[in-house]
Amino acid sequence: MTRRAEEFKPLVPGRLGLYTCGPTVYSYQHIGNMRATVHFDIIARMFRANGYEVNHVLNVTDVGHLVNEDEDSGEDKMEKGARLDGTTAWDVAQKYLDAFVADTDALNIGRPAHMPRATGYIAEQIDMIKQLEAIGYTYIIPGKGVYYDTSKFAGYGKLSGQDLSKIRAGARIDDTGKKNPTDFLLWGFSPTGAKREMEWDSPWGPGFPGWSIECSAMSMKLLGPHFDVHAGGHEHINVHHTNEIAQSEPIVGAPWVNYWVHHEWLMGKDGKMSKSNGEIYRVADLINLGYDPMAFRYLLLLGHYKSPLNFSLESLDAAATGYENIVRKFAKIMRAAGTEQNEPNRKKHDEWRDKILAAVNDNLRTAEALVIVQELLKDADTDDATKFFLFGFIDALLGLQFMDRARKLCIAEDAPVPVEIQALADARGAAKAAKDFARADELRAQVEAAGYAITDGADGVRIVKK
Ligand code: AMP
Ligand code: ZN
Repeated sequence: MTRRAEEFKPLVPGRLGLYTCGPTVYSYQHIGNMRATVHFDIIARMFRANGYEVNHVLNVTDVGHLVNEDEDSGEDKMEKGARLDGTTAWDVAQKYLDAFVADTDALNIGRPAHMPRATGYIAEQIDMIKQLEAIGYTYIIPGKGVYYDTSKFAGYGKLSGQDLSKIRAGARIDDTGKKNPTDFLLWGFSPTGAKREMEWDSPWGPGFPGWSIECSAMSMKLLGPHFDVHAGGHEHINVHHTNEIAQSEPIVGAPWVNYWVHHEWLMGKDGKMSKSNGEIYRVADLINLGYDPMAFRYLLLLGHYKSPLNFSLESLDAAATGYENIVRKFAKIMRAAGTEQNEPNRKKHDEWRDKILAAVNDNLRTAEALVIVQELLKDADTDDATKFFLFGFIDALLGLQFMDRARKLCIAEDAPVPVEIQALADARGAAKAAKDFARADELRAQVEAAGYAITDGADGVRIVKK
């Protein structure tokens, strides 16, 4: 709201109420959506690392998002998804919600305390529209629905800082029947004579909730009338979040939410990664291409949420190499710490912990935290046991599963290499020595195809099961 980072003060000491705009489950979520979800997860982890009890709500939109949102027309996205999948809107919601949860698990995104679905809170949404109606903030457009009259709310548009007079003056005189171009749908009427797949009775007749009312109704129900932080993509500033404020503040008073956090997008070759724009990847695609989902999470954390982040398989390759390097270095420490049986050096431990946490506490500077992690790995004055303990903290804060991957690497390194693989690797070594690089590459490909990786390190050739 103030367009700058502010010092955080909780409504209730030691507690965080966090609401985040989650997926619309009418098709698969792509890795752009996952930038959002990882960002929300980092907010929650940062507060937990500071001792907060976090009540995180991530909503699931399973009704009311229309294909032509600006004109309140077109199919409901869920019903469109059902038509394309040859199934029901309810099945569509479940299928893509399950896929979303599987992706969040792969990315080690902690489960929010609540993942409410809009269809589970229809009564609350109707109740809120009734309250807005009672104070005179609504009107009806026959055949279309109940609308919010934005001229009634003096604070309308304060989040975006847009010049509303320009929007109002510049709007084409259309036939929507709206009183102001910024007015928006609270409750849509089912078309006469046709039954929508998803519709409910209401004081205004059968229909469905408009898209933004769910976020006001569900956040208040699950977090109370006022809460600390509301987050979402920056495209929500002008309309969705502006409308959420307009629906909520006339009922509960201002400020409804204390801090707004908006992230920039993950960008593909052709601009914002989105379902309707160019090349998109899902987490499952990255896994099928052989990437560790943690390499993608690492790539996200190398960026800052306030800046757009370019995605390409080349940038992911670079991130994967960086991630694996840390895992490899940490695996060595893990082995050493395991044999030393030493207690960590408390003072050193706390110094490093505070330094890493300070970077993330300062407006979520995860990339800076990762630079400090690299310094920690190199630091000769910090013993391995202390480093080992610190990685427990780093994993809790950043969710990068360094411990898990290092443990797996140790197990793979300890596994004996089958004789036939060793023979191929030896033949490759001989071919290289004889400068027959074509033959060496061929033999390496055979080793890789058998599920093993060869790396030429300073300490010799290593063969590890992939
Ligand atoms: P949707 O399913 O499209 O409603 O989006 C779910 C969440 O993902 C919202 O918080 C969006 O702001 C966010 N989102 C969608 N596309 C991107 C992207 N390319 N980069 C970052 N966040 C995105
Ligand atoms: Zn929302």
